[in-house]
Amino acid sequence: MNFSAVIVAAGSGQRAGPGGAKQWRNLAGKPVVRWSLEAMLAAGAREVVVVIPAGDETIAAEAFADLPRWRAIPGGAARHDSVLAGVAACRAGPDDVILIHDAARPFLSAAVAHAAAAAASEADGALPALPIADTLKRSEAQTQACSTTSRDGLWRAQTPQAFRRRVLESAYAAWPADETPTDDACVVERAGGHVVLTPGDPRLMKLTYPEDFEMAEALAGGMRITRIGMGYDAHRFGPGDSVWLCGVQIPHDHGLVGHSDADAGLHALTDAILGAIGQGDIGDHFPPSDPKWKGAPSSIFLEHAADLVRRGGGRIVNVDLTLICERPKIKPHREALRARVAELLRLAEERVSVKATTTEGMGFTGREEGIAAQAIAAVETPL
Ligand code: MG
Repeated sequence: MNFSAVIVAAGSGQRAGPGGAKQWRNLAGKPVVRWSLEAMLAAGAREVVVVIPAGDETIAAEAFADLPRWRAIPGGAARHDSVLAGVAACRAGPDDVILIHDAARPFLSAAVAHAAAAAASEADGALPALPIADTLKRSEAQTQACSTTSRDGLWRAQTPQAFRRRVLESAYAAWPADETPTDDACVVERAGGHVVLTPGDPRLMKLTYPEDFEMAEALAGGMRITRIGMGYDAHRFGPGDSVWLCGVQIPHDHGLVGHSDADAGLHALTDAILGAIGQGDIGDHFPPSDPKWKGAPSSIFLEHAADLVRRGGGRIVNVDLTLICERPKIKPHREALRARVAELLRLAEERVSVKATTTEGMGFTGREEGIAAQAIAAVETPL
């Protein structure tokens, strides 16, 4: 599914109470708007334009520093000005689908985004919506007497709302200048477009009032999943005067033989991370048959795996590595190895563990024919 995304985050969110602008407020450890950006990336958006208040560029750069495929642009006075600025900044072609999403709805799943995007390539527009379960009442302002309104055919509209670029831009061009649209779908409807509903998600609630943040905090845990991956590698000793382990060169009376620098520690870690995100193994990404990787530093492999995690909107929670050999003795180097892995993965050292063991003379590591390594990685990704 090929689509671009615009996240509208330029509002001042005055109904949300104290605590700063709603889009930058912290929700379960990260800014509200980052939830939507990660969700769009995880859903496969090829570009995400985030429309922010003018002057907030530095905040955005900091909040999204480690994420790919986004640009932040300043918004306009009203929501629809920001939408138009966001669409104008997209690289999408006239018939490409653009998803317009409100940053105040942080819990977007890939399924909801895909359904809207798919429907918009058939109709003139599509948006997720939910049926109304509650009975609807109308209250008279003066007497406060209420009456019951039929909910037949009524739906609660959500975002992202999806349109082909050409359809949305021409509908906005025809919109009367003195009216304010309540969403983007109504603009396309007014222009005679055929807009359809796709399945919404109750978790896609809009953060509007202070109490909404409490409910969102409670929901946040359920929107992420932790995945585990494991990796194993071994390399044989050969001639040389040092070995590479965890990206650190350690003096030894042998070297390790391999197509790359034969860093069994980084290879096991790379496979553990790739395993956690279901992205095959190190050989799929860096085929040993490709001369390009001859003698390559294995830090490239590990950084690539970590980058794949980030591209999917995920983050590495922790890694644990065990090196298995009689010699060289690992213990004097353990903290240096740990620090290097933490640096490569951009993780705090407390989230990285490097351990070592011998096999008490047994097996190939015991006979000092080579070094083996086992790793495990925990990765948190969007649901
Ligand atoms: Mg290897």
